[in-house]
Amino acid sequence: MSGKSVEVVIVGGGPVGLMAAIALAGAGIETALVARPAGAPDNRTTALLATSVTALDTLGVWQRCRDDAAPLRVMRIIDDTGRLLRAAEVHFDATEIGLDAFGYNIENRFLLAALDARARALAALTFIEDQAQAVAIEDSRVTVELEHGSPVAARLAIGADGRQSLCRQAAGIATEGRHYPQTALTFNLSHRRPHHDCSTEFHTQTGPFTLVPLPGLRSSLVLVGAPEEAARIAALDEQELASEIERRSHSILGKIAPEPGRGAFPLGIETARRFAVARLALAGEAAHLLPPIGAQGLNLGLRDAATISELVVAARRDGGDVGAADLAERYDRSRRADVTSRALAADLLNRSLLSDFLPLQGVRGLGLFLMEHIGPLRRAIMREGVAPAAAEPRLMRGEAL
Ligand SMILES: Cc1cc2nc3c(=O)[nH]c(=O)nc-3n(C[C@H](O)[C@H](O)[C@H](O)COP(=O)(O)OP(=O)(O)OC[C@H]3O[C@@H](n4cnc5c(N)ncnc54)[C@H](O)[C@@H]3O)c2cc1C
Repeated sequence: MSGKSVEVVIVGGGPVGLMAAIALAGAGIETALVARPAGAPDNRTTALLATSVTALDTLGVWQRCRDDAAPLRVMRIIDDTGRLLRAAEVHFDATEIGLDAFGYNIENRFLLAALDARARALAALTFIEDQAQAVAIEDSRVTVELEHGSPVAARLAIGADGRQSLCRQAAGIATEGRHYPQTALTFNLSHRRPHHDCSTEFHTQTGPFTLVPLPGLRSSLVLVGAPEEAARIAALDEQELASEIERRSHSILGKIAPEPGRGAFPLGIETARRFAVARLALAGEAAHLLPPIGAQGLNLGLRDAATISELVVAARRDGGDVGAADLAERYDRSRRADVTSRALAADLLNRSLLSDFLPLQGVRGLGLFLMEHIGPLRRAIMREGVAPAAAEPRLMRGEAL
């Protein structure tokens, strides 16, 4: 077979694929990254938790984008459901658990540019701007067929190719999940009043409505609602949109001005039945899709990238086969609890907002009430949110691979 041969081939040049590429190539593993040329610009932002920031810093990425990020020092949840059993307002303050900030919010375009620049500086990484068309898994290798170029063979393929993952299909891995009757509308905005580094998540009857700080007098917005409602709001002119958002946010940021560019994302929840088989591992949204509640999705994906990279580097150091079935097994086991617990929490919280079932609203209300009033519980939840006990790969602890 003509074509390139490497140790690991990664499919997908989103944040998860780029992070895995940097971690592996930075540790000297011959890696190829198959990345489809960039499509329409992504106006979303990502709230990166402190451990994700530590990993990006360790990989030499954070230094390239930290000036574009805003710290998240306080997080507020406000019950705006207007229901009988409403929850208390809950405040989480990073100083309560000895942190300066829970993490940082950054526009995806800056994060991707920093990852891309770092990746291109690594000698062990081959960038292939092409689309993967087929993935053939054999006993001793995996081959990625490209739309334009020659195929790439490797001992292991990492599928970081997003929610419609070709790699997942090629490995015959099924998923479990469901679509929600919700769409997330996203855009950024400037405002008159300062955000004081505080993100605010309003819980409404149609889903969360979240304002997250950006540097200066700017914030990003994620508005989750019924698809028709999201489409109606997305079609408003600038003035009407500003009034709608000021009303929904109870003017906490004063007068606002929406910036150009609006995104719409149909929501669902999905988890792959297996995160890896011999010769192929899944990472990021190829492995799990979560609703944007509590800012978990990409943070989980970065932990996938850190974990698979750590296992591959260790196997290589011991002279082992990085695509072997036992490595796949260990990866699946290492990620299962972290992904399942966060998916369950996000699903329950989201469904409790949509549900008219009084006991479920009561449980959510009670949970938030207890969090606000019982300090040790609140602090335990904050610590778990930032640094999950089930998964702390080396990069997340600031240790190089
Ligand atoms: C509204 C919204 C807000 C969010 N906010 C947050 C947040 O605050 N914090 C957080 O942690 N997460 C957040 N998330 C989740 C986060 O955006 C995703 O987890 C993250 O983008 C997934 O990254 P990824 O690299 O796995 O996939 P993607 O970003 O989808 O990247 C996949 C890449 O693979 C490429 N690709 C696909 N198929 C092929 C192929 N055949 N060949 C070559 N390339 C291919 C695609 O072009 C793409 O570049 C949010 C999500 C939404 C919808």
